[in-house]
Amino acid sequence: MSKLLVSDLDLKGKKVLIRVDFNVPIVADQITDDNRIKAALPTIEYVINEGGKAILFSHLGRVKTAEDKENNSLYIVKTRLAELLNKDVIFVPETRGKLLETEINHLQNGDVLLVENTRFEDVDGKKESKNDQELGKYWASLGDLFVNDAFGTAHRSHASNVGIASNIGSCAAGFLLAKEIDFIGGAISNPKRPLVAVLGGAKVSDKISVIENLLKLADQIIIGGGMAYTFLKALGHDVGGSLVELDKCDLALELLKQGKDKIVLPIDFAFTKEFKDLEPAHYGTIDTIKEGEMSLDIGPKSIAHFTKILKEAKTIIWNGPMGVFEFEHYNLGTKGILKALAENKEAITIIGGGDSASAAINFGYQDAFSHISTGGGASLEYLEGKKLPGIECVSEK
Ligand code: AMP
Repeated sequence: MSKLLVSDLDLKGKKVLIRVDFNVPIVADQITDDNRIKAALPTIEYVINEGGKAILFSHLGRVKTAEDKENNSLYIVKTRLAELLNKDVIFVPETRGKLLETEINHLQNGDVLLVENTRFEDVDGKKESKNDQELGKYWASLGDLFVNDAFGTAHRSHASNVGIASNIGSCAAGFLLAKEIDFIGGAISNPKRPLVAVLGGAKVSDKISVIENLLKLADQIIIGGGMAYTFLKALGHDVGGSLVELDKCDLALELLKQGKDKIVLPIDFAFTKEFKDLEPAHYGTIDTIKEGEMSLDIGPKSIAHFTKILKEAKTIIWNGPMGVFEFEHYNLGTKGILKALAENKEAITIIGGGDSASAAINFGYQDAFSHISTGGGASLEYLEGKKLPGIECVSEK
C-alpha cells in the first residue's frame, strides 16, 4: 500500500486521535455483535504498546434530536472495549469543551480515552455529518497525530475523518482500513485473474453502479438473489410473484448486452406459493413456475454451476445473498456459495459488508475467507469505483 500506515508513525508520548467504527448494533441495552470493536483492537493496541495516548472518536446510530442522545451514548461501548483491551478506558461524555481537554491533557503514555458519540454534534446543525470546518479544526487541535481506521464511514466526508485529517496536516491508515484498501482496492485495481464477482441481494436498483463498474473489471459476474428475477423477466420469462423491478427491465437488458458472456444467471430455483419459511413446493427451471408461485432461492443445479465457475477463479468478490437466507428453507443457495468460496483455497476471497458479512459469520465461515469487509455502504461504493473520502484523506507515504 502506498498510503501512510499507523506503523510508519513515531507514536511515543503523542496524543493520537483515532477514528474507529464502533457503530455496533444494540438491542435492549446490550451490544448484540461486537465484531466492529474487535476489528479496531489491533490499531488501538499498537498505538498504546508503542507508548502513544489513544483518543478514540466514533459515531453510533443516528442522532438528530436531543432525545436521540439518550439511546446513543458510546458509554456502553466503553465497557466492552475495556473488557476486550483488559485495561481501563477513560470515557468523556462530551464531544468538546473543558472536561474533554483536561482529560486529554492528563493522559499518560499507553492510556485510552473514548470521546462521546461524534454525531451528538449533529443535533445543532449536522456539524459532524456536514464536515463543519470549525469542528474538524477543533478536534484536530486536541491531538498530535491522526489515524483513520473507520472503513464503515469511509464513503462519507465527515468532521471526524476528513475534517480532522485536513486540519491536522496528515493522516495515517489504521490496520483495519489498510486491510480494506489492500483487499477491495487490490481486487478492483490489480486483480489476480480470473476475477469473478457474485452479486445478489434484493434489488438491481441498489447495485446498478456496482454491476456497471464490475462489467469493466471482472471476467464473470454471477447474479443471484432477488436481483436475478428482473434479468429473467427482461429476457421474457414469466417469474410469477418473484421480486421484480419492472422499471429496471430495460436497464437489465442493456447490462446483459454490455456484459455479453460475462453475466451468468441461475438455471434453477426454489419455488413456493407463500413468502414463508416452509419447504419449497418444487425446484426447477424458471419455465416450470406454476400459477401463484414465486422463487425465494436458487436451486441445486445453479449452486453446482456457480461452484464450477468459482473453482477456477483466482479472485472472488461476493456481495448479496442468493436467496431469502433468513429462512432456513431458502438459505441453501447462500450457503452453497459460501462453501464454494471457502473451498477455493487458491483464490483471494472477499466478502462485501452488510448482509453478506453477517451471513458468512452466522453460517460459520468467519475465518474461511481472505477478507470480510466491515463496511456495507462503503464496500459497495468502493466496488462502484468511487473514490472514498475517508481513504482519499489518508496521506501518501
Ligand atoms: P441486500 O440488502 O440488497 O443485499 O438484500 C438482502 C436481502 O435480499 C435479504 O434480506 C434477502 O432476504 C433478500 N433476498 C434475496 N433473495 C431474494 C428473493 N429471491 N426474494 C426476495 N428477497 C430476496
